Amino acid sequence: VRENIKNLKPYSTARDEFKGQASVFLDANENSYGSPLPANYNRYPDPLQLDLKDAISKIKGVPIENTFLGNGSDEAIDLLFRAFCNPGKDNVIVLPPTYGMYEVSANINDVEIRKVSLLPNFQLDMEKIAETIDKNTKLIFICSPNNPTGNSINREDIETILTNFNGIVVVDEAYINYARQKTFIQELTEYANLVVLQTFSKAWGLAALRLGMAFSSRKVIDVLNKIKPPYNINQATQDLAFEALKNIAQVNDWIKESVAERDRLSEELNALNIVTKVYPSDANFILTAVNDATKIYDTLVDEGIIVRDRSKVTLCEGCLRITVGTKEENDQLLTILKNF
Ligand code: PMP
Repeated sequence: VRENIKNLKPYSTARDEFKGQASVFLDANENSYGSPLPANYNRYPDPLQLDLKDAISKIKGVPIENTFLGNGSDEAIDLLFRAFCNPGKDNVIVLPPTYGMYEVSANINDVEIRKVSLLPNFQLDMEKIAETIDKNTKLIFICSPNNPTGNSINREDIETILTNFNGIVVVDEAYINYARQKTFIQELTEYANLVVLQTFSKAWGLAALRLGMAFSSRKVIDVLNKIKPPYNINQATQDLAFEALKNIAQVNDWIKESVAERDRLSEELNALNIVTKVYPSDANFILTAVNDATKIYDTLVDEGIIVRDRSKVTLCEGCLRITVGTKEENDQLLTILKNF
């Protein structure tokens, strides 16, 4: 933890101190008369989101004190930099091709980024990672299933890093609900340096609410809570996410459907002449190499379908990343590709 963060006196409100003991709140300069909306939106939200965390805890099996909620998991990524990395001095390791925000957050925070490319099979280059770590390496970001390649990272490799690396190992599980591999949440009691990121933006279908989760040891969570903006999860998000958690059966149905569609789409893509490779996916998207990715991308745009052109990314040369859509959307895509 950075010295300035260790010494930080966090922002606190008078209300934190008197929780449940008062009924008249004249401490926070809110509008005491009400809100134009039919909810208590005139009041600041619970800074620690205890009701929502309690509901999440029942689903995830992680105690509240090991749970941090962020304005998307992107906020948790940024706060990890701010908590652990001294600008201009420390470094972090990322494993490209991977999710772009790790690098953006590093750059925003003026923290050196060390890239260790994945191997051609999209697994970790353990030797190079070991060589790249030095005493100023504070974070390693492992995205599993990895975006944009779609595969899960070998569990034993992640465990080896957790055991041997002194800093924080961030396992980003944004796509874990679609994976054959199990979550690392169950390893939290084993490794104090493990941070597992998950999100409500994917399988839960709540990208617009901006709600992400970081699970870790008490020490790490306490630091994140200390430095986060006081009201980082707004009341509407807290209320709506709380309601959404009651619909887990629907979410599980969608996951099953997405996985079935992913496997069908992979098979059908594989059969097309223009497709040279379909990479196996543990996520809700498919990385596929095609003849002339840019031309196919442009054709799809002309037809009103947007995919992600990853053809210029190292190890993803010639590839498009295609999110699994509804059955109808996937059929529309396949029809255009068949006629290409
Ligand atoms: N991690 C990964 C691997 C992602 O792909 C994404 C979104 N594309 C995120 C995190 C960000 O999630 P959130 O919406 O919770 O900020």
